[in-house]
Amino acid sequence: MNIVIIGAGVAGLSIGWRLLQAGANVTILERAQPGGGATWASAGMIALAAELETSPPAEVSFAYQSNDLWPSFAAELEEVSGHPIGFARSGALLLGNDGAMLASRATADPALTFLTAEDVRGRWPMLTGEYSGGLWAPNEAHVDNRALGRALTIAFLKAGGSLKPTEAVVNIFDYQGRIVGVSTPYTRYPADAVLLAAGAWSGQVADVPVTPVKGEMIALTPPPGEDFDFAGPVIWGPDVYLVPRGDGEGGGRLLVGATVEEAGFDTALTKGALATLRARAERVIPRLARWKLDEHWAGLRPASPDGLPLLGPWGDKPGLFVASGQYRNGILFAPAIADLMAQMIQGKAEPIAAFDPRRFNKDKTS
Ligand SMILES: Cc1cc2nc3c(=O)[nH]c(=O)nc-3n(C[C@H](O)[C@H](O)[C@H](O)COP(=O)(O)OP(=O)(O)OC[C@H]3O[C@@H](n4cnc5c(N)ncnc54)[C@H](O)[C@@H]3O)c2cc1C
Repeated sequence: MNIVIIGAGVAGLSIGWRLLQAGANVTILERAQPGGGATWASAGMIALAAELETSPPAEVSFAYQSNDLWPSFAAELEEVSGHPIGFARSGALLLGNDGAMLASRATADPALTFLTAEDVRGRWPMLTGEYSGGLWAPNEAHVDNRALGRALTIAFLKAGGSLKPTEAVVNIFDYQGRIVGVSTPYTRYPADAVLLAAGAWSGQVADVPVTPVKGEMIALTPPPGEDFDFAGPVIWGPDVYLVPRGDGEGGGRLLVGATVEEAGFDTALTKGALATLRARAERVIPRLARWKLDEHWAGLRPASPDGLPLLGPWGDKPGLFVASGQYRNGILFAPAIADLMAQMIQGKAEPIAAFDPRRFNKDKTS
């Protein structure tokens, strides 16, 4: 079976890797460089409690399933690629100003423990900022998303995949009523199935309802001699998250994110976002005012109209699949999406109804 994948982000690479393991021939066409889209720009959180508070049951259950897959996915990927990806089950601390709401969330979810502001300061003395209590979420994790992109690229190539960087797909073509390949400015690639995994750009390649949502982030480093536990938890303030990056490349930094803005495909860095992110971070850990700005970047999240991913067949001709619209959870969902989409493309699994891209087909005909 010959599969062509459009886009070498976490989705395209991990699905491609799983398809190669199942015996398929896989070619990934990447407009720029592998792992360089939202996968590079992300904060790498595998966040359940903070990201899914208002999500429908199908998304929550998919997130828990993927979270359970993460440790073995990370171990397998590191072993195959020989490249560490910094997966850490660090837990997360969710700070808030509504004590009653925090306490009721802890009552509803046995995985969460309510902490008073005093408890929090006792365990994490640097958290001298503004909050009235917190929730301890021990199952949260994070991964070095940039290392993840590199490791997936290596694993994909080692498994025998063909990867074409700087080669954009400009057309998906059909013959006798089915999708049979794609074309780039250079040539055509015939395929038994085509997977569209072009992140926020998916809607530029086919008529899928995916749009970009810009996010700016910064990374801070401590002044010389300042002690900080980079193996500590992810910290969520009321309107900001702080992700410690420990060892490895890009280690010894605190990631601060992220803005959420509908600005088309603009990824310009703004002074306003920088100031806002710093101010929000300092409200949680005031001593961050003395930390140095190490990096400021922006990326585009792939968003769908209902906020849920699109995972499955697309269009009126068989042979085209889409894996996009993961919005803020594309890293969290990666292992589950890889398994589900690889199975589906081989005809061994059906889409999950809530994520079936064909839920949007009716919008085009009505
Ligand atoms: C600031 C920020 C913070 C985030 N934090 C988190 C987080 O903590 N946890 C989490 O789970 N998620 C997070 N996300 C979301 C997550 O990064 C995305 O959901 C995920 O990376 C999407 O992966 P992808 O492979 O679909 O897209 P991408 O990584 O964007 O990859 C798509 C690829 O397709 C390529 N492409 C585009 N058009 C074409 C074409 N015509 N032909 C060929 N190739 C093409 C692009 O160049 C790109 O490399 C964050 C996102 C942002 C922006």
